[in-house]
Amino acid sequence: MTSPLTAKPAPIALLGGTFDPIHQGHIEPVLKLADTFGWSHVHLQPCFAPPHRPQPEASDQQRLAMVTLACQQDSRLLADDFELRQGKPTRTVHTLHHVRQQHPNASVCFIMGMDSFLQFTSWLNWQQILDLAHLVVLPRPGYQLTQLPPDLAAELKLRQRGDSESFSQGAGFIYLAETPTVDISATALRRQLAQSPDTSRIPLLDPAVLAYIRSHNLYQSTH
Ligand code: ATP
Repeated sequence: MTSPLTAKPAPIALLGGTFDPIHQGHIEPVLKLADTFGWSHVHLQPCFAPPHRPQPEASDQQRLAMVTLACQQDSRLLADDFELRQGKPTRTVHTLHHVRQQHPNASVCFIMGMDSFLQFTSWLNWQQILDLAHLVVLPRPGYQLTQLPPDLAAELKLRQRGDSESFSQGAGFIYLAETPTVDISATALRRQLAQSPDTSRIPLLDPAVLAYIRSHNLYQSTH
């Protein structure tokens, strides 16, 4: 039996997003990662409102409700309302400082799609983020490593690791996941929802999330 004094704290895995709405391009890869890394939980954390984008179409509470419904797919998925509870936009670096304060000895893995990784050097204090967390990058159709800016390519060369053990403690490594790509975006889904009759199934959208969208008349216009 492992002594509680020597047991490693459980890693914290976190995917932040607008989730306007959440879709299987978020869920399927993170469940594959949870298998690979043995994560018992993955936090799905809707942001208050991304500073670099127009406001989401669904309200904060609606996006959280949809994330909560999607989390019913697997008991490892956790809807995390930390950023929404702040009542103002929170930058990733500040969220990760909070996670570190709460779990000083745990490994923290911050998950993002390749599209986000390609822009990572534009994030506030991106180097500090790497002091606070590991990055786990999901492949995404249309976004290639060859598009990486040179400063980030240099960081990747130093920090890339391919073994799951490296990510079980500390921070600062980068994992390029080889999970199957899921060719969907919330933007494409919103467009599809606006154009489909109420009765149609929408692939890559959780049926409970779809029912919520329909009953709240969300995403009815394309703008
Ligand atoms: P939008 O189309 O409105 O920009 P989105 O589909 O990219 O939305 P977000 O909530 O903005 O969804 O994404 C949250 C995180 O999930 C980001 O790091 C993004 O890169 C990643 N992500 C979203 N969709 C996918 C996908 N299909 N494959 C891999 N990563 C994804």
